[in-house]
Amino acid sequence: AEARERYAGKNPKSRERYEAAAAALPGGNTRSVLYHPPFPLGIVRGEGCRVWDADGHEYVNLVGEYTAGLYGHSHPVIMAAVRRALDDGINLSGHTMLEGPFAAAISARIPSMELLRFTNSGTEANTLALATATLHTGRRKVLVFDGGYHGSVLSFHGGHGDPLNLPHEFVIATYNDPDVDITDEYAAVLVEPVLGSGGCIPGTPEFLTALRRKATEHGALLIFDEVMTSRLSAGGRQALLGITPDLTTIGKYIGGGMSFGAFGGRRDVMERFDPSRPDAVAHPGTFNNNVLTMSAGLAGLTEVYTPAAAVALNARGDALRERLNALTAGLPAHFSGIGSMLAVHFLSEPPTNAAAADGADPRLRELFFLDLLERGIHVARRGMVALSLAVGDTECDQFTAAVEAFLADRRGFL
Ligand code: PLP
Repeated sequence: AEARERYAGKNPKSRERYEAAAAALPGGNTRSVLYHPPFPLGIVRGEGCRVWDADGHEYVNLVGEYTAGLYGHSHPVIMAAVRRALDDGINLSGHTMLEGPFAAAISARIPSMELLRFTNSGTEANTLALATATLHTGRRKVLVFDGGYHGSVLSFHGGHGDPLNLPHEFVIATYNDPDVDITDEYAAVLVEPVLGSGGCIPGTPEFLTALRRKATEHGALLIFDEVMTSRLSAGGRQALLGITPDLTTIGKYIGGGMSFGAFGGRRDVMERFDPSRPDAVAHPGTFNNNVLTMSAGLAGLTEVYTPAAAVALNARGDALRERLNALTAGLPAHFSGIGSMLAVHFLSEPPTNAAAADGADPRLRELFFLDLLERGIHVARRGMVALSLAVGDTECDQFTAAVEAFLADRRGFL
């Protein structure tokens, strides 16, 4: 309560924005994830890895737009690509010169995506991947995992789905349970190779390999939701594991920071979208090939986030996690994740599934969030960090020092 009060005292303009926006937005909000009590920050500007709020405070942005902000706020290559697209005109009402090369670049990096289709968000990509799987198999059941987040209409927590979820026949299993039952009734197994929003909890190779084997045995399509994890290497987590899913969904940073999603995979599954076929299935979408996304995404993948850049960014994340976990050694706190995705858990043991992660005291996570804001560092309220390419040694040192100070201030309590 004290931390919230201090926060409110320091952010009067953010409060004003929040109250004014509530006139036409429910609770002043259009992205649920951004709300936190007593009111969220109003951000006015960003540059590199830094943002400024309405009250003039500067923050190192370690939220990294929940992994979508990989290029930072103002990467010159991304800015030039967007400007180029603007100069050539938007809303061209036709195929452009960009979408073919962009799709080819993605397919070259993630070879399991033999053919792919663009969407406007990760939610839409997963929605279409599931629809494709049910159509392909003629089955209705979909296996998902507790703590899994696949978009605003595909969210699973506490053993049940959210009220707005799509009406598939979902069966919710425990993440990281290699003994999970898969039968001939399943159209698809939809899984994040690292539970992202659910706490940056890596899927074990044993678990993910078991899903691959059982899906094949029972004729279900294995869908890897790599919307977040595609950043973990040039070819996503599937390349690191050597597992080939039937379908993959991507989103977030791959659109260069613009609205983006894509789903794709096995040629025999995806070629039904070829509109010249007599039995073609339609997948329209006004903004599927919007030129801002296509231009920024293509430039980002080919000129900025090269395979070597991916190795370097994720090595930075691994080194940071190691430093942080050295600070928390012996305390009920742990930084989970892989590479450039991290999350703090106020637990004695690293969690392996959502129920274990839920065992932590949520007040500690909120305190961590508010305390770090006061120290000039913005992490996601749920305790997640996604590094951008703009985050350097200075910011990693600053973050490590802030965590050390947070822990020191709570010695004897934690
Ligand atoms: N899948 C995963 C793993 C995600 O983390 C998210 C977003 O956080 C989505 C899908 C949905 O993507 P979008 O917010 O672009 O709809």
